Amino acid sequence: MVSTFLRGAQRLLCVVLAGTMTLAAAQGLPSLGDGSSMTTAAERKLGARIARELYRDPDYIDDAVLEDYVQSIWQPLLAAARQRGELTSEQDERYAWEILMGRDRTINAFALPGGYLGLHLGLIGAVSSRDELASVLAHELTHVTQRHISRLMEQSSRVTPWAIGAMILGALAVSRSPDAASAVIMGAQGAAVQSQLNFSRDMEREADRIGYGVATQAGFDPAGFVSMFDKLQQASKLNDNGSFPYLRSHPLTTERMADMQARQALLERRPAPTQPDLVHGMMAARARVLSNPGPDRLRSWVGEAGTLGPVPAAQAAPVLYAGALSASRLRDDEAARGLVQRLRVAVQADPKALRQAALLDAELRSAAGDAAGALAALAVIPADQAGRPELLLAAPLQIRSGQAAEVAQRLQARVALDARDAAAWQQLASAYAQQGQTLRAIRAEAEQQVARLDYAGALDRFKAAQNYARGPRQGNAPGDHIEASIIDVRARAIEAIVKEQEKERQAER
Ligand SMILES: [Zn+2]
Repeated sequence: MVSTFLRGAQRLLCVVLAGTMTLAAAQGLPSLGDGSSMTTAAERKLGARIARELYRDPDYIDDAVLEDYVQSIWQPLLAAARQRGELTSEQDERYAWEILMGRDRTINAFALPGGYLGLHLGLIGAVSSRDELASVLAHELTHVTQRHISRLMEQSSRVTPWAIGAMILGALAVSRSPDAASAVIMGAQGAAVQSQLNFSRDMEREADRIGYGVATQAGFDPAGFVSMFDKLQQASKLNDNGSFPYLRSHPLTTERMADMQARQALLERRPAPTQPDLVHGMMAARARVLSNPGPDRLRSWVGEAGTLGPVPAAQAAPVLYAGALSASRLRDDEAARGLVQRLRVAVQADPKALRQAALLDAELRSAAGDAAGALAALAVIPADQAGRPELLLAAPLQIRSGQAAEVAQRLQARVALDARDAAAWQQLASAYAQQGQTLRAIRAEAEQQVARLDYAGALDRFKAAQNYARGPRQGNAPGDHIEASIIDVRARAIEAIVKEQEKERQAER
């Protein structure tokens, strides 16, 4: 299979769907017949099927720090969309509202069926403020809430949803390997139909208009939309080198530009923020370093940070952050330590930025094998600021230092809050294993697979847990009999899902 997360995704969802339809039609796949529209539940299932493959992709990245940052923008957008009635309670309940990040350096974000969204690190690394990132996410959010994706699929209802899913996956795979085969498949025929099935101009304008309202209500500076447009427009003037796939699927039509200029004219000039947003600069730097640059690039970031003169914190923070993280990746722990200390000093007046510096310090110490130092770095973060990144960073260190029971308690609280937190399940499995609670550990492993939508893999682990419970070592740990009955219930539920998926696969043939 192909190895990168939507690499060269010249085709965002709309485009992907387009190529898809051609292929599906050409292969004479079964049709829905009555042209009935897709329910939100069916759309969610379809999205989950695509997301499952993205989770397995080596370029998928579950980075707690960036995830936390993106969520700090995404959750207010969702709340504003709810308040404005753009996001119905049915959508709220049925859709995933999940953002999957990919290491790809291209500037891209896209909406998939069922409320799954894709976000490339390249985009986080390229935007200059959280307001700009909010403008892109609000636009994509609106494609979902306005059911633009569903409408595109309804237009193509001659093809079953499951065939569409298979075809989207096929097209994504093809789009990632820019070789001869893809050129053949996405050739003339695909191109002709693509244009019909892209989001329409009206849909794009609607996503701009409603997205603008949502982002503004969520408290983001409307200027973020304007500067993002400027950025895209600048890019569109340059040669298309493939690093702006976002433009290809969201072309800046004259209408979109005119709409935005009209909105800009109505903008009240906001006073310039009294404090620069240090956190965004640091997060953008992180995204750039984590998007797989080569060692030369990493070395140049280390060099740049090393020779940085006295500059304001807003300039220093991203450079020092990128330098420290790059040095750590190059295994130059001493340089990393020096740069992260300079970073802490540079941002000391800003509590949120200081938290990011402390997290980075802990991460780098942990990577260098200094568990005690890492935990000490985390300890300075005030409890009211600490969240999932702190929890997941500390967990493996504390498990190894004999605090598995306390860690397990905190992780249980975390998965109770969000059962889809695969990383928390994974840590929980090792916390249980460390305490000799094998049965619970196997169940946590199973739940980790469920969180990644790999139901067959999960069923495998649940069966292993059942075998263990019936084996000679059963009842080793306190509460094992209760655990065993939970496992039976979960195994039955997951088995039902696996069977249903199997049936659906059969029906597709
Ligand atoms: Zn769009």
